Amino acid sequence: MEPNAIIDAARKQHRAALDESSGKALLASYGVAVPKTIVVRSSAEVDGALQGLTFPVVVKVVSSQILHKSDAGGVRVDVKTPDQVREAIRMMSVLPKIASARVEGWLIEEMAPAGQEIVIGGLRDPDFGPLVMVGLGGIFVEVLADVSFRICPITRLDAEEMIDDLKGAAILRGARGRKPVSRDAIIDVLLKIGGDDGLMMNHAEQIKEADINPLIVSDTGAIAVDARFILT
Ligand code: ADP
Ligand code: MG
Repeated sequence: MEPNAIIDAARKQHRAALDESSGKALLASYGVAVPKTIVVRSSAEVDGALQGLTFPVVVKVVSSQILHKSDAGGVRVDVKTPDQVREAIRMMSVLPKIASARVEGWLIEEMAPAGQEIVIGGLRDPDFGPLVMVGLGGIFVEVLADVSFRICPITRLDAEEMIDDLKGAAILRGARGRKPVSRDAIIDVLLKIGGDDGLMMNHAEQIKEADINPLIVSDTGAIAVDARFILT
C-alpha cells in the first residue's frame, strides 16, 4: 500500500495514531522489514486466517486504548500451533486491562529471528523540525537513557556517528560473548526513517512521532516487530 493511503485511511477513522498493522504497512512501504502479519477480529476467525504464516507466531492485542501491550499482558510470544493461538486469545481476553478496553482484534505475526533489540524513533521539534533517534532496547533506553539524536535529514555518515555515540555501542559489536549485529541493517533503517527521502521528511505534515520499539537486529538483518506512529 502507498504511504499516504495508509495515513489517510487512519485519518478517515479519526485515529490519533496508526494501529500496529498499519504502522508496519507504512514501514514496509519504505522498505523496512516487518514480520508477516495478519489481524483477526476474534478467535473464531483464526483457522481461516493462518494460511501462509509460519509457526511459531506472536499474538498481540489490538486496541487504541492499550499503548503498552506487554504491561496489559497483551503479548504472547512463541505460540506454536493454531490451538495455542486460540488459547492465547482466550487467556488474554479476560485479563483486567484487556477486558476493560475496546479490543479491535488480535494481531498474529511470525516470530523474528533472535537478535539484539534496539529502538529507532522520530519526533518533531518545534525549533529544529524532524529529529531521528536510535538507542539500545529495554533497560538501555528506559533506565540508562542511552540514546542519540540528529536533526533530519541525516546522511549515512550521520547514521554511523549516531550508532558510535551510544555508550552501549560495544554491545552491537559483540561485547561479552554476544554475536555482533549488522551495523549496515541499522544504518539502513535509520536512513529510511531520517534520511533525505525518509519517512520523517516525507510526512512532515502528517506524522508527529514514530517509534520502532523494538527493531530486532541479527548478524544478517533487522526487522521491526513493533511500530507506533502518532499523527499530527
Ligand atoms: P509492547 O511494546 O506494546 O509491549 P511489542 O509489540 O513491542 O509490545 O512486544 C513486546 C516484546 O515482545 C518485544 O519487545 C519483543 O521482545 C517481543 N516481540 C514482539 N513481537 C515479536 C516478534 N514478531 N518476534 C519476536 N519477538 C517479538
Ligand atoms: Mg514495543
